Amino acid sequence: MLETVLIVLVSVAVLVLLLYAIFSRRKKKVNNLDSLPVHYREILKEYVDFYNDLDEDKKTQFENRLQHFLLTTRIAGVNTDVEDLDRVLIAASAIIPIFGFAGWEYINLKDVLLYPGSFDEKFNQEGGGRTTLGIVGEGAYQNMMILSKPELRQDFINKTAKNNTAIHEFVHLIDKTDGAVDGVPEFLLSKKYILPWLTLIRDNINEIRHSQSDINPYGATNEAEFFAVVSEYFFERPDLLQAKHPGLYETLIKIFRQEPKKDDQVSI
Ligand SMILES: [Zn+2]
Repeated sequence: MLETVLIVLVSVAVLVLLLYAIFSRRKKKVNNLDSLPVHYREILKEYVDFYNDLDEDKKTQFENRLQHFLLTTRIAGVNTDVEDLDRVLIAASAIIPIFGFAGWEYINLKDVLLYPGSFDEKFNQEGGGRTTLGIVGEGAYQNMMILSKPELRQDFINKTAKNNTAIHEFVHLIDKTDGAVDGVPEFLLSKKYILPWLTLIRDNINEIRHSQSDINPYGATNEAEFFAVVSEYFFERPDLLQAKHPGLYETLIKIFRQEPKKDDQVSI
């Protein structure tokens, strides 16, 4: 009797191992099919500091998520070509702010349109000069983002600036996930942090209005723009933000669940 039980147990174990071996081989095959084109990786290395600062494992994760974004989002040019450089930079801008959230999907985005320059007619705009370089659609243009091609490229070529329009627009989408673009991503920030966050925003907007801040003045437009503008700063110049605005820096680590400078995932 004992022998029979042992034989059954061993057979089950062998079967499980066999199935596992077949499954992992299949999985590997699918991953290989979906792996990032080599020249996309070269573009990342040349233009995307955030990617270069990741360790090898996280670089692979970044590449997989970038590839997934490109497979699930339409990118089209309006009176301009979309080159691989643009595709990679758009996808990198999408992944950078959500890299701390496993499995995040931009459910409110289907299309990204690339324009040959700034734009200012037809669409619901936010006002101010810089919004003409990037916009998240509303109403009839729901699920759509429009970016200026020269601005997209320039923001990645310039390694010392605190701004990045494409990241700014993706942060609006993250903000929008709870239904309101209001500068407070409710589902990413524990309730106890919301009031202190709003206070921080108001204090900083005040400083901008009194010309006592190095944060882009466009951030003083309202809470939503402040959140998007300071997020650009966080991802582009985390070291500088930490030095000049430690309170904002710490809160953004909590919101985005990552610390770009040190590549640490931080839990809240
Ligand atoms: Zn904006």
